[in-house]
Amino acid sequence: MAVLPILTYPDPLLKQKSIVVEVIDDEIVNLAVNMLETMYQAPGTGVGLAAPQVGRNQRLIVIDINRGAEEPDDSRPIILVNPEIVESEGEITYDEGCLSVPGYTVDITRSDKIKVCGLDLKENLVEIEADELLSIVLQHEIDHLDGNLIIDLVSPLKRELYRRKLKKAQKENG
Ligand code: ZN
Repeated sequence: MAVLPILTYPDPLLKQKSIVVEVIDDEIVNLAVNMLETMYQAPGTGVGLAAPQVGRNQRLIVIDINRGAEEPDDSRPIILVNPEIVESEGEITYDEGCLSVPGYTVDITRSDKIKVCGLDLKENLVEIEADELLSIVLQHEIDHLDGNLIIDLVSPLKRELYRRKLKKAQKENG
């Protein structure tokens, strides 16, 4: 297992649309394992990671909503290849953060209940019905596969303020 470097905004690789995984080979399996490890080792309580965040523009996401949970349930980490939202309803607003947008959280409104289809690492079709946090994280990670970060979903003014904050921080760090 290896911890991979996480790309941060405004890295152009984060803006690319990721490509469909055609074959789930050892390389993809290793990438998934390393992504989980990277997520667990990352600062804060990141509960999901998408392949483009580690510089791989392939449609692969990992999620563990039990990370940092006060009352963990018995759900296991989710590894999903080529995930696709096939149903969605309702609305939910949540203060989201992102490992690729460090030091920033913002209220984002998304669908409340969703159904997602994808493949597991054995190429079995997986169907997940999700609400609340899992629904939010799934939508957040799938957004990454389409090149969208939370900072792309906010108003231009909020984005500009974050850019300035980032610049200031970079200056201060020399
Ligand atoms: Zn993110």
